[in-house]
Amino acid sequence: MNAQFDVLIVGGGPAGCACALAMHNKGYRVALIDKATFPRDKVCGDAIPGQSFKAIHQLNPQWSAALQQFAEQTPIHASKAFFGNKIFRYQWKLFASNSKRIDFDHFLYNLVRSETTTTLIQNQQVAAVSHTHNGLLCTLKDGSQLEAAIVIGCDGSNSIVKRSLLKKTDNKEDVYAAVRIYYSGITGVTPGENEFHYLKEVEGYFWIFPLPNQWCNVGFGILKNKQKQGAPTDARKTLETIINSAPFKQRFQHAVPMSKLTGYSLPVWGKTQVLSGERCLLAGDAACLVDPLQGHGIDKAIRSGIMAANQAVKCLTAHSFDAAFMRQYDTAIHQSLGKELRRNYLIRLYWSRFPGVVQWLTNLNPPQKWIDLLLKKIKL
Ligand SMILES: Cc1cc2nc3c(=O)[nH]c(=O)nc-3n(C[C@H](O)[C@H](O)[C@H](O)COP(=O)(O)OP(=O)(O)OC[C@H]3O[C@@H](n4cnc5c(N)ncnc54)[C@H](O)[C@@H]3O)c2cc1C
Repeated sequence: MNAQFDVLIVGGGPAGCACALAMHNKGYRVALIDKATFPRDKVCGDAIPGQSFKAIHQLNPQWSAALQQFAEQTPIHASKAFFGNKIFRYQWKLFASNSKRIDFDHFLYNLVRSETTTTLIQNQQVAAVSHTHNGLLCTLKDGSQLEAAIVIGCDGSNSIVKRSLLKKTDNKEDVYAAVRIYYSGITGVTPGENEFHYLKEVEGYFWIFPLPNQWCNVGFGILKNKQKQGAPTDARKTLETIINSAPFKQRFQHAVPMSKLTGYSLPVWGKTQVLSGERCLLAGDAACLVDPLQGHGIDKAIRSGIMAANQAVKCLTAHSFDAAFMRQYDTAIHQSLGKELRRNYLIRLYWSRFPGVVQWLTNLNPPQKWIDLLLKKIKL
């Protein structure tokens, strides 16, 4: 294989698919390459934030209508945060849903297939990307090569595009470790409501998210570098301990595991962000855009994928690919996503340093309208 493209998108998850959808009808040769064959699974909590649907709607209302109507999802209208026996409830304003990523990502991928002229390349891993005198050369694991004017790294955490072209890796200080398992038959689950449990004993949170057919996505996430009493917290063991402890033991008494317990990392927004370089843009997890407070990244992946496509069009129109021109994309990301992510980064930082303050605040039993105001501010 030796092909030439204007834009090569590496990674066909939400960031890559949104990027390909946003390149639709722009008149450029676009390819989307993924090392997996779709449908492919992705370890996740499977909660698709409302902003994801809104961003797709802005691209094309018919696409978001199709996305809202596809069968393998369960609409979610509220989230409940549990601090011991205190419960704070937040009603979603936008349409949101839970959908197993194997289904959701496949739907998005098929949308790219049916609605755009993108060249789809599956089951091909990018091994390295390098500069040539007038473009980029992408070498695949099987030795074949692709040429492109611009490469957009939508290849998730530990991005090869980021490592090859920008010589950077994810900042270990800002990576969460999270695990998830599917269960059926958990009791006490309210349809349409996601549960977040913040426990006194461990930092991080435990979740139960309802899925279609009485399944639930159950998981636990924690900052990788976070240590309690000198010993690193093992997310897998912690999840098992939580499930086997009161008050969850009773709810899981007749529950049946429907998958293995699997883990993956979440590169969250931190002190510094690497977003672009000469002929190169990063979107989604590759750009570390996961919300540091909630661990949500699908919406940011979709939104940044669209912004990366917009920047690629600007570069191709102006025939300008240098690092300084690319930084317009950094500015766009900071303006549209940065404020919310920075604020949530600071909240997470203070929460982690002063957990007693959060405990004290919850003990004050604040009225629901204060909670609504606060949650609106942090855009839950
Ligand atoms: C346990 C857990 C729970 C989570 N829960 C939630 C949640 O409930 N809600 C939420 O919004 N977010 C959640 N997240 C975060 C969310 O999963 C990510 O933010 C989201 O998947 C980012 O999308 P992306 O397109 O950037 O990357 P990905 O979805 O990771 O897609 C990257 C794609 O790139 C491909 N790829 C990688 N390397 C190469 C290569 N070298 N060559 C070719 N292809 C390559 C991969 O095969 C993959 O298809 C969770 C994450 C974890 C780990």
